[in-house]
Amino acid sequence: MAQQHLLSVEEARARMMAALSTTQPEVVSLAQALGRVLAEEAIARRTQPPADLSAMDGYAVRAADVTKVPAQLRIVGEAPAGGAYDGTLGDGEAVRIFTGAPLPKGADSIVIQEDTTRDGATVVVNEAARPGQHVRVTGLDFRTGDAGLPVGRKLSPADIAFAAAMNLPTLSVHRRPVIAFFSTGDELVPPGTEPGPNQIVSSNNDGLGALIVEAGGVPLDLGIAPDNLDAIRAAAARADAADMLVTLGGASVGEHDLVQSALAPAGLDIDFWKIAMRPGKPLMFGKLGDLPTLGLPGNPVSAFVCAMLFLRPAIARMQGGDSALHTLQARLGAALPANGPREDYVRAALDHMAGETAIATPFAPQDSSMLSILARAGCLVIRPIGAAATQAGETVTVLPLRV
Ligand code: AMP
Ligand code: MG
Repeated sequence: MAQQHLLSVEEARARMMAALSTTQPEVVSLAQALGRVLAEEAIARRTQPPADLSAMDGYAVRAADVTKVPAQLRIVGEAPAGGAYDGTLGDGEAVRIFTGAPLPKGADSIVIQEDTTRDGATVVVNEAARPGQHVRVTGLDFRTGDAGLPVGRKLSPADIAFAAAMNLPTLSVHRRPVIAFFSTGDELVPPGTEPGPNQIVSSNNDGLGALIVEAGGVPLDLGIAPDNLDAIRAAAARADAADMLVTLGGASVGEHDLVQSALAPAGLDIDFWKIAMRPGKPLMFGKLGDLPTLGLPGNPVSAFVCAMLFLRPAIARMQGGDSALHTLQARLGAALPANGPREDYVRAALDHMAGETAIATPFAPQDSSMLSILARAGCLVIRPIGAAATQAGETVTVLPLRV
């Protein structure tokens, strides 16, 4: 098995994606909709603006009356926002109007108040106006029945404001997938406890939980399973109501790497388990019964990189959203040597300078246990298989880590 052909990251991801299904839709209020993915198109329930409205505070006039200025007009009424002037404007007449009020019948233009001088019931217009000036016409923004937001849209604050304006108090979105996970390792204790002489603190549980939340999933942390088959099986059994199971550690070929041996008798059907990438070669995907199961390496940086490359897109896909990796071009801040037969993900600082391409500067230590470096990294520089040595200043592809 150790000589098994290594899959490319892309091929492995495509195979995993093909095995995932989309969660059912549910209806949520706008207050709960941020970051959710639309399951049904959002269609406008009204026309906006519902009538021709003034865009400014000033006077509604007939443009023909103010082609020659100064022009004196008689003020015949007022139209506040939320109110209206019900009459029809005649020759030589003006209506005092405020932003958002409907344009009175007979008027075709708004003169802003800064261009007028008022004297009791008359107003002198000092600047000529053209028809349609400062008027927001009916349906300028959208009309009843317009397709506002498409299926698959991950909702932003602006999208939610738009949905509210379309008079949609609720939206149909995909249920957030529940991602169950546990770490394996006799050496691991949770943060906040006193590790024994041969123990370390588990960082993967909390890190992965946070990554799942950020990606739009619901984390179900099943804790730490010791390195024995029964404990691993028992932990996995607690994931049966989840949409996906992620195991952390115990996935390589060490004697104590027991995840596969534990789960095979429980029905684990492995699709792949070795990927041509660094960090993270021992990455496993399969199905435990019907449950998609992703096995991540235990090294904290490997686990995180694999989660960015596989779990994040999986969570997006399960919600029916955009699962593409959004990479950028950046300029390398320091030289990198030629790459070998595995795609390399190099932790790097990412510095943005106004108007220029961002600079990605790799950190010298790249050990896959170093969380201090990962936490400082702004991106992963993606080094294709067999990439030639690359000099500072050359353009490289990076995956931003802060999203
Ligand atoms: P494994 O994949 O179980 O062989 O683990 C590889 C390395 O990652 C070992 O040094 C483990 O101690 C470490 N490791 C495994 N799981 C975790 C975890 N949850 N948090 C921090 N380090 C871990
Ligand atoms: Mg282990």
